[in-house]
Amino acid sequence: MELRGRGKIAAVSELDRTVAANLHRIRKCIARAAEVADRRPEEVTLVAVSKMQPVEAIRAAYAAGVRHFGENRVQECAAKRPHLADLAITWHLVGPLQSNKVRRSMGLFDRIDSVHSLELAQKISTIAEEGRRIPILLEVRMDTAPTKAGLEPDEVPDIAGAVLEMPHLDLRGLMCVPPYFAEADQARVSFHHLREIRDAMARRFEMLFPALSMGMSHDFEVAIEEGATEVRLGTAVFGARPPG
Ligand SMILES: *Cc1c(COP(=O)(O)O)cnc(C)c1O
Repeated sequence: MELRGRGKIAAVSELDRTVAANLHRIRKCIARAAEVADRRPEEVTLVAVSKMQPVEAIRAAYAAGVRHFGENRVQECAAKRPHLADLAITWHLVGPLQSNKVRRSMGLFDRIDSVHSLELAQKISTIAEEGRRIPILLEVRMDTAPTKAGLEPDEVPDIAGAVLEMPHLDLRGLMCVPPYFAEADQARVSFHHLREIRDAMARRFEMLFPALSMGMSHDFEVAIEEGATEVRLGTAVFGARPPG
């Protein structure tokens, strides 16, 4: 029993070192990309996407200063959270939310980053407790593949208008997942487009919509150059995801 305990501690600290080293590299990259765009690195929040990662990996990233974590499945987050209750984590849902899981998700996530339909927004607003306003992002489809989720770019302003009327939602901004390109720079046009949509919304509604969640492990530097305020990094932080 005691031996196993010691073995576990040793294994965890190796994970701690790996994740800390990854984060050190990532923060340098964030700083460099911010500088290119004449922005401050503090304007960019790192959201560590911990899907398929064990709670020890989340603790390792937390120990290295990460406070925002993203999960893409309600069930998985529900399983992990009880083991992480002592940490002051802000949880983001970054994956598709089925309407029958909305109620469950309310107690688990601090923000729903992947609101991909008006119906889902309505459902969240209806289920949210009286007096509560749930922070959300609208997910915009920047990938023409029909399987990909998200609002069509040209319907975003009207849906944003409808969401602003919903009493229990707090629309903070937009999120997107562009197609995977071998050359990260090819995603630039999508990131630029998302920012333009956000800026047009800001003018139309005379509100800020500060959050632009865009950029993943292979393209976050380009996203930062195009104005990302949040980058969602999984493999860059934790290494390859264990096979699920
Ligand atoms: C998995 C995931 C990420 C992180 O992907 P990496 O390529 O591992 O950085 C970011 N955003 C969403 C929506 C994801 O599902």
